[in-house]
Amino acid sequence: MEIAKNLQNIHKNIQLSCLNHHRDRDSVKLLAVSKTKPVEDIETAYQAGQRAFGENYVQEGVEKIEYFKTKHTDIEWHFIGPLQSNKTRLVAENFDWMQTLDRNKIASRLNEQRPVNKAPLNVLIQINISDESSKSGIQPDEMITLAKFIKNLPHLRLRGLMAIPAATDNIVEQEQAFTAMNQLLIKLKQAFPEQQIDTLSMGMTDDMASAIKCGSTMVRIGTAIFGHRNYD
Ligand SMILES: *Cc1c(COP(=O)(O)O)cnc(C)c1O
Repeated sequence: MEIAKNLQNIHKNIQLSCLNHHRDRDSVKLLAVSKTKPVEDIETAYQAGQRAFGENYVQEGVEKIEYFKTKHTDIEWHFIGPLQSNKTRLVAENFDWMQTLDRNKIASRLNEQRPVNKAPLNVLIQINISDESSKSGIQPDEMITLAKFIKNLPHLRLRGLMAIPAATDNIVEQEQAFTAMNQLLIKLKQAFPEQQIDTLSMGMTDDMASAIKCGSTMVRIGTAIFGHRNYD
């Protein structure tokens, strides 16, 4: 009940942000971040029409994918957490998208391990846009080099960029980071005009409106759909 209502509210907010910033409603996709939440919650969201889900932990994600494999064949699964190289196979074999690609070694392994009977794995390069201390994501000036490397891997398809900017309530700071990401996406598209680069994954529960204002094409929402997470 709650989850369905929450989804409705978020769709309303996305629509409003799109209207305010002269964007087509269909230009922003909603990714439901279901990490730590039980399969029952995912099922509820599915029944309410949600089809794309994001998971941060490999093992937990794979268990959920297994659970839904025969029940619903139209769920799109996104891996959005940090990935160690010894876990790449599980991601390559199970997920549809991998959003946190940040080095050659992971890209090579995902490419080698992607089953040939599956569509290429959609990947996003994660950019460390504001949080210098975080180890996740590459620096903006490393983007083109990594994109060139990915281009030569036939079982990966580079679709765009992803970022988790430093959390802040300051709208100006939020927009600075998101605008910088939008400019990087433009640069990436210009460098690889023949590739289907169409995705800018940014915006979470607390900064979704700023992200949409600045060009996000995929917001990743957890708390506002499923409630607070309990990590115990
Ligand atoms: C947990 C998480 C989210 C969702 O965050 P909320 O604030 O709960 O909406 C989005 N993106 C990533 C990468 C996450 O780890």
